[in-house]
Amino acid sequence: MILLDGKQTAKAVREKIKICAQEAMAKWGDPITLAVILVGEDPASQVYVGNKIKGCAQVGFESRKVVLPETASQEEVAASIRALNADPSVHGVLLQLPLPKHLDEQALLALIDPDKDVDGLHIVQRGRLFCGLPSLLPCTPFGIMKLLETYGIDPAGKRAVVIGRSNLVGKPLAMMLLNANATVTVCHSRTLDLPSVTKEADILVAAVGKPNFVTADMVKEGAIVIDVGINRVDGKLVGDVDYDEVAPKCSYITPVPGGVGPMTVTMLLANTLKAYENVHAIAAQ
Ligand code: NAP
Repeated sequence: MILLDGKQTAKAVREKIKICAQEAMAKWGDPITLAVILVGEDPASQVYVGNKIKGCAQVGFESRKVVLPETASQEEVAASIRALNADPSVHGVLLQLPLPKHLDEQALLALIDPDKDVDGLHIVQRGRLFCGLPSLLPCTPFGIMKLLETYGIDPAGKRAVVIGRSNLVGKPLAMMLLNANATVTVCHSRTLDLPSVTKEADILVAAVGKPNFVTADMVKEGAIVIDVGINRVDGKLVGDVDYDEVAPKCSYITPVPGGVGPMTVTMLLANTLKAYENVHAIAAQ
């Protein structure tokens, strides 16, 4: 069994991003800048935003944090997004989710300039992914694809089963695996006899949000298992896969923590670099 080490991979990818960023900035002359909008004081969101800002500094990007109060209105958040869209010194705009309940998340995401949508959540970027066109990809599934690539795992021809159909993880990942020529099945809470489906998987992805949900009897011998889950149990981070039970059956498996998690912010940085290059390439036409 080989561990898919997200921590090591993320480090290596960040080093590459840093070098490419220096080249790009030398070519175009202005700093690469990511703007993050945080609405409210959700402690987890504050940590995530902090990690994104720290990640920017690590690879030589500038960052801007726009903090709005918990009570901010739809129009106030919209105005912040519009201002960042219009600001040529900002190349990536990210709206930290979840938003306070009174705000319409989809309507606000739709306001982000698709060319600056470094979270890959705008409907235009999703449509491009669906059509198999180049796009800014949602960071968590993009990170999973990068991990597979790094370890020389080609999804082509493999049976991939994704448990979970969220817009954030399950659905875009299924599309990325399909674009990489896997035969893909997406499972969800209404799937009947789930183990009979998951046991077919050469690549099994768990994005469910339930601790230790995937047990050994659900996994084929030699499968590649990707655990997206982040669950807190008795103060410890636990994945969606019962690691101790499942790992001995796998050819490859991601640990939690240290698997998919570290890849997510790294792919946000990759998207920000891409957005910067796209913006300049379009302006130069
Ligand atoms: P989500 O929006 O809650 O979606 C969960 C999915 O699991 C849904 O599609 C749901 O089906 C399905 N599901 C629930 N119970 C099931 C069951 N008994 N059998 C089969 N499917 C079932 O969650 P998410 O945003 O995709 O996140 C999933 C997990 O990944 C969470 O633990 C989250 O914290 C973690 N996560 C990690 C990262 C990272 O960077 N590592 C990033 C994002 C999320 P229905 O659609 O039918 O309800």
